[in-house]
Amino acid sequence: MSNKNVFERKSSGSSVRLSQQCSNPACGESFGLDVMMGVCKSCGAPLAYDVAGHWDGKPADRNDLWKNFPLIPLQDPDNIVSLGVGDSDVVPLDELTERFGGAKIYIQLDSEKNPTGTFKDREASIILSRCKELGLDNLVFYSTANTGRAYTHFAAQLGLTSYLFMPRQCAYKNTDFIDKNSNNHIIFVDSHYPLIGPFARAFARANGLTSIAPLHDRTESYATVAYEQLQKLPECNFFVQTIASGMGPLGFYKGHLNMVKLGLQKKEHIPRVVCIQSGEMNVMAKAYNSGRTELTMDDLPGEFPDDLYEPTLNSTNPVNNYPDLYNCLKENNGIITDVEPGVVKRDGQAIVDILNERGYTLRPDLENSLLIEYAGMVKLAAGGTFKEGDVVLMLACGRGRDHTYRLIQPDLVIDPKSADPVHVFKQLNDK
Ligand SMILES: [Zn+2]
Repeated sequence: MSNKNVFERKSSGSSVRLSQQCSNPACGESFGLDVMMGVCKSCGAPLAYDVAGHWDGKPADRNDLWKNFPLIPLQDPDNIVSLGVGDSDVVPLDELTERFGGAKIYIQLDSEKNPTGTFKDREASIILSRCKELGLDNLVFYSTANTGRAYTHFAAQLGLTSYLFMPRQCAYKNTDFIDKNSNNHIIFVDSHYPLIGPFARAFARANGLTSIAPLHDRTESYATVAYEQLQKLPECNFFVQTIASGMGPLGFYKGHLNMVKLGLQKKEHIPRVVCIQSGEMNVMAKAYNSGRTELTMDDLPGEFPDDLYEPTLNSTNPVNNYPDLYNCLKENNGIITDVEPGVVKRDGQAIVDILNERGYTLRPDLENSLLIEYAGMVKLAAGGTFKEGDVVLMLACGRGRDHTYRLIQPDLVIDPKSADPVHVFKQLNDK
């Protein structure tokens, strides 16, 4: 194992070392920050960031997630592309105390603060800042909407070329609230969601483009939520988020583990992670609550109906993430549950009304994730999960901020079963 492949950042009050560490103990290779890799270059195993050293825990005087720069995998602050992302307000919702058995409910308003109105902007800011630093361009990614739209918006700011593949069924989510230049391509995929990822990767490979973004980089992006929680709401018992494959809570937990390593947090003080799934895509909740340690492709539904209540939550393949989420929930005494769309329609509207009353925007016509989260909390409260005096932090997932109704038309619509990646590239660039 070579220690030279570590990035060390020294400044007043800090000497933090960051490296991309191979998860295979037999390999043990580590890499600095000067390369973006999906898996270990030496052995192909997954990577995780190792954070070590000392930090005084004092955030910089700025109003975005980069206030915790010493912990973020970027070498040079000149490469930060922020657009005001993160450090969003944490607002107490006192009107809910009675409903939740005397627990105090807070909400962190990423939906209001972030540039494209979703918490996914956190990863877009960090990943695109890394792309700038490493000189990466011609970026390929896929998503039901939020992540890909956030990446597109940040790529447009940098003048980079990008290719977003998203399901045609999610066209209604693609408002023209985001920035997009003529070299920021959006391709609708008319097929079963699980085919989109493999096609996007084949498209990148066949045309010599850059697939982004590695899972471990995305994980550190959501670690920033943990840093902000510790700074804004240090006494916190539960952290609640709606999940598709669990990236958000996994990153939140990793952020706390980073703080434990730096001596700024105690493991027993980490809030219990609460994951809420939609009943339409509840394979992780079902597996965890029946004690299973693994998921396979056979656990996924074969086809999704065309009229999913919230397609964003069916976007990802939870099979790969499940073992990590399982370990996180076990270690942390976490909770995962699910709510059916009918229950969400009955119980979820209350959170929209509360936010609207306070003048915040929320767009349930574009996404229902926050309603699902709230309905899941109502379900848990009925089961006695929250006690008097507990502090519960909800992350405002879903879409806010956006006031537009006009939609972006796709550059191309393809069927991955018949489309040829080289021909698709040619069609896009001949336009
Ligand atoms: Zn390795």
